[in-house]
Amino acid sequence: MTVDRRKFLSVAALVPAALATPSVLQLSSVASAQDAAAKPAKSPVIMRRRIGEIEVFALMDGYGIFPNGMFPSFEVKAGEAAAKLAHVPFDPATFRIGINAYLIKTKDRIIAVDAGAPAGMSPTMGGWANALAAVGVTPEQIDMMFLTHIHVDHVGGLADPKTGNKILTNAPLVVSEAEWKFVHDDGIYAAQSKDFKPLWDISRAKVKPYDGVKSLIQPGAEIAPGLTTVALPGHTPGHLGLRIDSGKESLLIWGDVIHGTAFQFTQPDWSFPLDADQVKAAETRKAILDMVTAEDMMVAGMHLDFPGFGFVERANGAYRFVAAPYDYRA
Ligand SMILES: [Zn+2]
Repeated sequence: MTVDRRKFLSVAALVPAALATPSVLQLSSVASAQDAAAKPAKSPVIMRRRIGEIEVFALMDGYGIFPNGMFPSFEVKAGEAAAKLAHVPFDPATFRIGINAYLIKTKDRIIAVDAGAPAGMSPTMGGWANALAAVGVTPEQIDMMFLTHIHVDHVGGLADPKTGNKILTNAPLVVSEAEWKFVHDDGIYAAQSKDFKPLWDISRAKVKPYDGVKSLIQPGAEIAPGLTTVALPGHTPGHLGLRIDSGKESLLIWGDVIHGTAFQFTQPDWSFPLDADQVKAAETRKAILDMVTAEDMMVAGMHLDFPGFGFVERANGAYRFVAAPYDYRA
């Protein structure tokens, strides 16, 4: 990845052309300035917890600052009220998206769930590899790479930025068949905005070295004992969650069901332009929020504020996220 390309991959590049109105571009430049001024975490940040006999580590990749206008339904008063209910400081112009990945250690396997954003895409992203090292796991030790979907902020650590070679030398890539086909469909690619295409290119390049070792699965597939995939269509057609069950405990890693911790629990209808199907994404979001609320199931998510472990409650006619208590168990 050249320096020029890195410059091009600003926050503005993430805003599809359809939204590139002057007001949104203005907001984008505010976001870029905040992003550039922000310092990445000095040390890798991880958090471990147990789900029964299985260990789950949250790996902080970083975060991005994005214009509120990326939510087509955003409105200042509703946004401020939602942020207040979520105890997130409100900025009328921008909001923060955390970027997390997870690592699962079972009795005999090490399974990665997503791999963060590419290093160098932003000064506040790309911490995945260092977080992995902080767990004490080398890329060669990972037995399986499960992807919730193939977006740039989930595949960043998969390939060497200079050589393009794969980083995980012993891990097959496990991803839904619908997702793989969607990302590699040239007709669908051609229909993307010119701003989104470079990100799509990077996503393709990051998964390419795994073409020969990929395993394309269907929703509901058990990828390892106690690890079952869950269909979450909308954000992308092949978007999958991963449900972990061990003993009496469960966790649902729900990928990109929520992008804005500040807003979407109170405003679950607010979809995101990066949702391939915004209506479907909102339907899936509400169905999953209802399910985890009814079952009191612990969740984790790639864009929830780190570490993302928590529960969802019904509140104010919508939902509220409650962070999970720290797990002190060895
Ligand atoms: Zn994402």
